[in-house]
Amino acid sequence: MKEVILIKLGEIVLKGLNRKNFEDRLIKNIKHRLRPIGNFKVRNSQSTVTVTPLNEDTDMDTAAECISKIFGIAAFSRACVCEKDIEKIKKTAGEYLEDDFSSIRSFKAEAKRSDKSFPLNSPQISKEVGGYLAELYPNVAVDVHNPDAVVMVEIRDDAAYIHCGSHRGAGGIPVGTGGKAAILISGGIDSPVAAFMMAKRGIELTAVHFASPPYTSIRAEEKVVELLKRVSRYSGKMKMYTVPFTKLQEEIRDKCHEEYFTIIMRRFMMMIAEKIALKNECRALITGESLGQVASQTIGAIACTDNVCTMPVFRPLIGMDKEEIIEISRKIDTFDISVQPYEDCCTVFTPKHPRTRPVIENVISEQNKINYEPLIIEAVENVRITEI
Ligand code: ATP
Ligand code: MG
Repeated sequence: MKEVILIKLGEIVLKGLNRKNFEDRLIKNIKHRLRPIGNFKVRNSQSTVTVTPLNEDTDMDTAAECISKIFGIAAFSRACVCEKDIEKIKKTAGEYLEDDFSSIRSFKAEAKRSDKSFPLNSPQISKEVGGYLAELYPNVAVDVHNPDAVVMVEIRDDAAYIHCGSHRGAGGIPVGTGGKAAILISGGIDSPVAAFMMAKRGIELTAVHFASPPYTSIRAEEKVVELLKRVSRYSGKMKMYTVPFTKLQEEIRDKCHEEYFTIIMRRFMMMIAEKIALKNECRALITGESLGQVASQTIGAIACTDNVCTMPVFRPLIGMDKEEIIEISRKIDTFDISVQPYEDCCTVFTPKHPRTRPVIENVISEQNKINYEPLIIEAVENVRITEI
């Protein structure tokens, strides 16, 4: 039995003149993401994208799982393809739906005939197929008002398609249609969620991670790589830049007043991230900050941080509670990795009493105790790139 996946486009359909760009990008993303799974034909017609495996032994469970994580898809269903012959359609439906019919108590059959040369019209097709299934599965009743499942038969130009029930897609808009942005990624719970949320809005990601060896370990960095791999199931591939941050942090520790450690460190992070972003055609930065979560995430601290860069800084979690963020991190499977205990550069040299209402002039004069510009340039020059 030959199976395909039928995809219904999401918000894309609202995009007027841009629609074609969005669709083309989605098709490209689908092809790209399915490549490790097998050879597929991906065809877009009549606002449905059909994904057809070209080899018999293709793992369609994995393909469906992969498709469920591609942004720009509202819903998808797995369908069986057969010849446009009503007897064959009935028999194929009976076999294909065996599993579905073992777990439902009622159904109705519907049909859509876009190939008008097919001898039966839609009501006749539904009647034929519905009658056949009702007889084959006497424990499943026909219920046209409130069925557990709707069996759909579509007669298209090339073949007949039979499916039963659709799955919700990942929603959002296709990655790449929203431009590029750089996510500041730590090993924590929040930043992977922030990355996921912006990818959902069509952003292609570049990741920037600050490491401070020997205060942070190689395991901490590996953890970030693992997190990004999980994120990339949704966002597609990306580059990760690991920035050597030790010297700047030691300078801050040695020269600045303790209560400004975090805020100055965050300013340096933003300066460096912006430089890396520019080199990668990114037009915004993304962080996992949430208002009031820690001392460096008050309005005043955020204002002091943003003061060093001209790019917009997206903070998709800004109004969310930790519980809400954790819920998403569980859904995208990053939570279990995030909670592994490895130190982050943010947690080395943390002040006991950080400034929650820093005065920008004081921050700048503290920061100017360091000859930071050459160190920033050095850090950017010595980044290490990992392909995710
Ligand atoms: P997270 O769970 O994402 O680590 P957090 O609540 O622990 O966030 P902070 O540690 O204050 O908050 O970091 C705030 C944001 O700064 C993070 O969401 C992330 O975007 C960025 N950030 C923190 N540490 C790093 C790092 N080592 N490399 C890159 N970005 C970082
Ligand atoms: Mg953190």
